[in-house]
Amino acid sequence: MTVTLTDARDELRRVFGYQDFIGKQAEVITQVLNGGSALALMPTGGGKSLCYQIPALVLPGTTLVISPLIALMKDQVDGLLQYNIRAAYLNSTQTINESRQVRAQFLNGELDLLYVAPERLLSGDGVQFIQQQPINLIAIDEAHCISQWGHDFRPEYLKLSTLFQHLPQVPRLALTATADAQTKKEIIEKLNLENAQITVDSFDRRNIRYQIFSKENTRAQFLEFYQREHAGHSGIIYCLSRRRSEETAQWLESVGLTALPYHAGMTTKTRQRHQEKFIREEGIIICATVAFGMGIDKSDVRFVAHFDLPKSIEGYYQETGRAGRDGLAANALLFYGLGDAVNIRKLLQDSTAPANIRRIEQQKLDALITFCEANDCRRALLLKYFGEAYQAPCNNCDNCITPPQMQDGTVIAQKFLSAVMRSRQMFGVTHIVDILIGKTNEKIQKFSHETLSTFGIGSDIGASEWKRIARQLISNGLLQPDEQYGALKITEIGSKVLRGERTVTIKKEVKKTKTTKADRVRKPRTDPSAVLNEWQAAIFEELRAERLQLAQAQNVPAYTVFHDSTLIELAKALPTTEAEFATIPGIGAGKSERYAAKFLKIIDRLREAE
Ligand code: ADP
Ligand code: ZN
Repeated sequence: MTVTLTDARDELRRVFGYQDFIGKQAEVITQVLNGGSALALMPTGGGKSLCYQIPALVLPGTTLVISPLIALMKDQVDGLLQYNIRAAYLNSTQTINESRQVRAQFLNGELDLLYVAPERLLSGDGVQFIQQQPINLIAIDEAHCISQWGHDFRPEYLKLSTLFQHLPQVPRLALTATADAQTKKEIIEKLNLENAQITVDSFDRRNIRYQIFSKENTRAQFLEFYQREHAGHSGIIYCLSRRRSEETAQWLESVGLTALPYHAGMTTKTRQRHQEKFIREEGIIICATVAFGMGIDKSDVRFVAHFDLPKSIEGYYQETGRAGRDGLAANALLFYGLGDAVNIRKLLQDSTAPANIRRIEQQKLDALITFCEANDCRRALLLKYFGEAYQAPCNNCDNCITPPQMQDGTVIAQKFLSAVMRSRQMFGVTHIVDILIGKTNEKIQKFSHETLSTFGIGSDIGASEWKRIARQLISNGLLQPDEQYGALKITEIGSKVLRGERTVTIKKEVKKTKTTKADRVRKPRTDPSAVLNEWQAAIFEELRAERLQLAQAQNVPAYTVFHDSTLIELAKALPTTEAEFATIPGIGAGKSERYAAKFLKIIDRLREAE
């Protein structure tokens, strides 16, 4: 008996309550049902899990899911159990008794999905054990963990080939949201996917709004934005250092918000506790280093903010991608300032890596700086970086929403450059700005800089505006800060501008004024209830409260009971029967059986009260 895509779609409707496949799911699933292997490159939120979960349900036998996410496996499996899917996991966090039970279930053919950590599978009798039952598919989740390039490298992944040698006939499906060419190449090589079908979905995350803020007072700027758009929402703030993540969390607590730090310097236990709290509770802001995030499938992260510059565009895309997995509107904010531009330019110069690695580092940093300083569609730039064509405008990034005003900055640049020149290229930005605005202080007096012809020639422009200009001149390579003290040196491009052989365009910085009254009365754009009318929004809140109770009683994250998007659909459709209830996207038979009575009762009560 062959299983077709139609069977798969029927199962999708029955079990998950979704009408049809999204993105490239159908293509991947078709390949797997035909017994072929595949590599699926899809963005976060692109629906990767269903690519193996649906085959697991319709094919005879068990699907083996290899996952590095030990701390999250329980949540993943709990999520499936909510749908009455026969799933279990084996990893080192279990007691002997628990794993014995799972093994028995597997051997009795009672599992459609078995999640395993690679170290577990490849040690002891793991491989022999697996061979005792028919395996219909090996899904390798987070397949980029096999790549030594990224910071998610897991050496155990390299040993998976042993498993494949023992199960040569079983199709393999590797899945990842990391799209760069190098990683892709490594996945294909190391997972022996040379003959596999390669499916690449668009990496556009339409619901994420990309915004870059000119950094002045990051905390104040963030708080203003948060209060305007995200009050009560869950979000992630990425910081460069462990200390910064601690300090940021403390500061947020001190202004009355709920925040937790997360970084590699904390004990595993504390880290796990914070992660769990973030996933299970609502309205927590996690202040983290890049150590945080892989596999976090919390669907209602409404914003990701970078207080410090990410390491690369890849990093930025991956980190911001953790927002809005549920497809509802989300924000990605990056704070970028003079210090960042200086640091990048220094890094570009200082690298001691071998020439070929250094070239790659330089390209990456250049791309990042270009992205930060860009005047046109950020989304188009991002996607182009990943080799995807995109027709701007996207109307959902800062530059598309409020196109920056450009002006000829040649004269302004010449003023700045000549102040650098006349003070003999021995000073950093702050001092040059003091010269330009004619500020007398100890340092100015010590070097007699008040006698320079450039002293005070820029007093018509404020110090903070001069710093923004300096940032652009540095970013655009007119000035290079030296590695030790950050003294600015004029580059070849800078000299040309100074001699009038080249012009410069700079951005007029439009400062966002204080929150206007219109801002305050407008419903936050990212609030799910913004798509509901007042009555529906009230219902949504009641359903949400019920969901939280049910989730807590079972000790599972709220979104594994129902996603926000499902609650929104419920509040709109107001089903009256269990059959109607089951057809709401994201519900399906199992969850309907569990929850229809409770939710229908609430809906009935509210309908009558209206
Ligand atoms: P990924 O693992 O690629 O990040 P997920 O598998 O977690 O993505 O899916 C992202 C979201 O999309 C989830 O909320 C999931 O329920 C939803 N989803 C997946 N497939 C479909 C579908 N066919 N129709 C509607 N929603 C879907
Ligand atoms: Zn855009």
